[in-house]
Amino acid sequence: MSGAPPAAVNILDRESLPCALCGGERFVVVLEGARDWIGRRPGEFTLARCEGCGLIATRPRPTRAALALYYEGAYSGSGDEGLAEHELGVKGPGRLVNGYRLHVIDQLRKLGPEDTLLDVGCSYGGLMWLARKRAACATVGVDLDAGALAAAHQAPRTSYHQGVLTELGFEAGRFQLITFMECLEHDLSPVETLREARRLLAPGGVVAVEVPCWTGLWRPVFGRFWLPLLMPQHLHHFTPATLRACVEAAGLEVIDQRAMYFPAEATLSLGQALGAAFGMPAPGAPQTAGQRVLGGVMALFLAMFWLFVEVPAQFLMWLVNRTGHMMLIARAPEARRG
Ligand SMILES: [Zn+2]
Repeated sequence: MSGAPPAAVNILDRESLPCALCGGERFVVVLEGARDWIGRRPGEFTLARCEGCGLIATRPRPTRAALALYYEGAYSGSGDEGLAEHELGVKGPGRLVNGYRLHVIDQLRKLGPEDTLLDVGCSYGGLMWLARKRAACATVGVDLDAGALAAAHQAPRTSYHQGVLTELGFEAGRFQLITFMECLEHDLSPVETLREARRLLAPGGVVAVEVPCWTGLWRPVFGRFWLPLLMPQHLHHFTPATLRACVEAAGLEVIDQRAMYFPAEATLSLGQALGAAFGMPAPGAPQTAGQRVLGGVMALFLAMFWLFVEVPAQFLMWLVNRTGHMMLIARAPEARRG
């Protein structure tokens, strides 16, 4: 670093780094004009595919300091009273989703009381809570969001750590299962993070990664309004092939890869598109009387869309392995090599 005084951080500060998977520096634009449709913070974003390996990333992307401004209030600080309880996964959709994830993982690596689970991007610790309830395992959670960790569910044989996995310096070989649920797409350096996960896995231990899937069939329908783009927090956008390549580059062996059923992807994407088309204010912002009426009509329409279009369509997409989310499970080598 030079001796110049630190410049103020601007939310529009961007950087374009070589490809996180192959180091390539030639890219093809695949999507333009994406925005932060939820928080309505400034900035337009472009996604580009690496010509070398095919990994898609937001390019240029916000700097780490600018990203912190986008994250401010986006998660624990939203002021939503019900959020903490919902995110805990103790009841409601959060618990169903976490139960589904653990069911998928269980089929390949069943957790027991002697195991330790590390959940990266643990938020309020909902997945960990359910894993303890089912398997009586020890649990360790990592998240960047100090607010979520402060409200997370405490228990014996459980600890939480705020920060980035590669900077926390956990002991090698400590974990039997490491989960990244809707987390790796936020990562500045996903391959480095997966390498660290491999270092932290006990021999034969398993990593489970769930991310949005670029080849999902709803993505081309909704384009820049596709909910799983989640601009600008999502920095990497994986296909089944590029996710597998990242995991293999980290020295892990893929043992399973499958589509995940997520039944609100299209409805929420449609809601984003309609909100932008009708100039609706951001969620939670004050509304005029006219906007309240319009919002009510839209909500009714979206509810019908969800029931009659999304639920059956998502099931068909799940059958052909083309939903907007996927899970990959990989194993560390049995004998540790250098
Ligand atoms: Zn590349």
